[in-house]
Amino acid sequence: MIAIAIAGAAGRMGRSILQLLIAREDLMVAGLLDRVGHPDQGIDAGVLLGRSPLKVSISSDADAVISDCDVLIDFTIPAVSLYHAERCKNFGKSIVIGTTGFDEEQKKRLEALSQDIAIVHAPNMSPGVNLAFKLVELAARVLKDQVDVEIIEAHHRHKLDSPSGTALRFGEVIAAQLGLNLSSDAIYGRQGQIGVRPDRQIGFSTIRGGDIVGEHSVMFIGEGERLEITHRATSRENFAAGAVRAAQWVVKQAPGLYDMADVLGINSR
Ligand code: NAD
Repeated sequence: MIAIAIAGAAGRMGRSILQLLIAREDLMVAGLLDRVGHPDQGIDAGVLLGRSPLKVSISSDADAVISDCDVLIDFTIPAVSLYHAERCKNFGKSIVIGTTGFDEEQKKRLEALSQDIAIVHAPNMSPGVNLAFKLVELAARVLKDQVDVEIIEAHHRHKLDSPSGTALRFGEVIAAQLGLNLSSDAIYGRQGQIGVRPDRQIGFSTIRGGDIVGEHSVMFIGEGERLEITHRATSRENFAAGAVRAAQWVVKQAPGLYDMADVLGINSR
């Protein structure tokens, strides 16, 4: 049985992962970490989820929690994820990091740590989205310049950035296949007398409203046919499921820095 600990356990993703883990008989919740002073410090995992106690409580003692687990799943903030990766290295444990927003320096430090331990770091843990990246890459490789590419994304009304990081990633994957550069060959929204659509351009459109968790459609539009590859997230559970899948996978890997394509076995590297 794999013993999994969660860092950021009281957070949105941490709770979602905990919910998933406690329903699994083949996995064990080995420990829960959250920051010193968090109002949920000391609380039992079961109580946190409104159930009967599970005899694992939220702690801030990283060394005690990490030394007791096989793998740590971390959804916190970059500096904390890095600190936890360092502690995992100390104890020879694997780590799955879902935290986003690493700067170049932090990415380099993570890469250095991966000389000694197996690390999965993926800004989007959804298996469906990662598979969609691959499908879109194949579509762009086959269809090349015979189609116009349009990317449409929809999110809830509270999302602050546009287009989403995932939409941009779809654009990068396609741009790499078509020899385009998103900084010069993309258009973000259209209005007014826009003229004829140029060739070799990727269009991005954004929808914001209500409680949409996250939807992405990539359209390859040709003469007489249109291919659409669409992913719809209906809850955070898909990210949590991806993180748990990554944890089960990473414990069997040699030291290295991996992403979700590696976990899913679809990396062409
Ligand atoms: P959140 O703010 O709800 O949770 C973060 C948790 O980390 C909080 O409970 C916080 O107290 C805790 N934390 C902060 N400092 C800590 C410390 N020193 N030790 C232990 N815990 C500490 O945020 P969230 O929505 O759960 O997202 C967390 C991160 O995951 C963000 O970077 C977000 O962008 C990313 N995310 C990634 C994916 C993915 O698929 N990879 C999906 C959703 C969110």
